[in-house]
Amino acid sequence: MNMNAPSKFVAGFLLLALAAVPAGNSAAQKKTANLVLITLDGARNEEIFGGIDLEVLKSTTRNERVRAEDTPLYKQYWADTPQERREKVMPFFWGTLMKHHGSIAGNRALESTVRLTNKHRFSYPGYSEILTGQSHDDVIDSNDKKRNPYPTVLEFLKRKLGLEAHKVAAFASWDTLDWIVEHEEGSITSNAGFEPYIHPSPVIRELSSLQFETVTPWDSVRNDVYTFRFAKAHLETYKPRILYLGLGETDDWAHDGRYDRVLGALARTDSFLKELWNLLQSQDPYRDKTTILMTVDHGRGSTAADWTKHGKDVEQAQYIWLALLSPDSDLRGEWTKAPTIYQNQIAATLCRFLDLDYREQNPSAGEPIAHLFTR
Ligand SMILES: [Zn+2]
Repeated sequence: MNMNAPSKFVAGFLLLALAAVPAGNSAAQKKTANLVLITLDGARNEEIFGGIDLEVLKSTTRNERVRAEDTPLYKQYWADTPQERREKVMPFFWGTLMKHHGSIAGNRALESTVRLTNKHRFSYPGYSEILTGQSHDDVIDSNDKKRNPYPTVLEFLKRKLGLEAHKVAAFASWDTLDWIVEHEEGSITSNAGFEPYIHPSPVIRELSSLQFETVTPWDSVRNDVYTFRFAKAHLETYKPRILYLGLGETDDWAHDGRYDRVLGALARTDSFLKELWNLLQSQDPYRDKTTILMTVDHGRGSTAADWTKHGKDVEQAQYIWLALLSPDSDLRGEWTKAPTIYQNQIAATLCRFLDLDYREQNPSAGEPIAHLFTR
């Protein structure tokens, strides 16, 4: 009983001391020194939260006159619950990252919603909303290779942190991202689509040539494995403070109706995440000092009839997901009964982890996601 009085006193003193520190105003309080942004083009909430979708599988096997239940895909990925199914596709993401290190918003079955603010629901408007913090439906209305008319958060971070161009790097599978990630050409390191990547390592130089020999069905999107390998090599050699990894295959295989390849791309992405996480945690500049935000440019149709599609006429394509791993956020697992968040909040949220105020660049951008900073 005697112990109570002093411990209460100490607790009260600590509370007073904490209250005296202005909220969000101390760089010393935050552990984040580096940011990694990862996007999986058009990866649906259905697979992320529920793994293989039986209705979609049935619709894609109908023509082959086989029962969905007899397919190798079913045998590989089916399980009774959504939790078990998603872990079969992305075992590291669910079994390690979301369990022990981070949280994910967007499972509407648990009353968590993430939405686009742009009405187009295709790639350029989505990536631009992520990277500039604002949708501009009247100006950004196509996927054409046009220079982003607005400065991006990557450029803002480079300027505010006083970084060299190789310390802010974007690697993407879709070539148009070269045009979206920066307003001022050449301000950051950017490598996207079938583009050579010059690196001191002979292995990486060999991979850079191989990307042109292992073509995809799409002229504008290279295999994600090259994008990942180049990003990883850049990380190991140049130690960027800000890294953006834009993976693309999940969208293109879906457009082609190749459900097997969509699941395969998600599974490979899961192994990339494992490799990236282990690399970050093995290096002093990154270990427990890196915030990783994962999301998508847009959702897509939720039924067997429209899962391959997205765009302004596909209502469900406005719903997306967002995952965050950060030494400065205590949230774990799936968000439940949480406030709706928006794609235009991502830019300001990234800045907030470095105690920077994105309103300096764009006063109209969405605000930082408050829920992430509650402890
Ligand atoms: Zn698409």
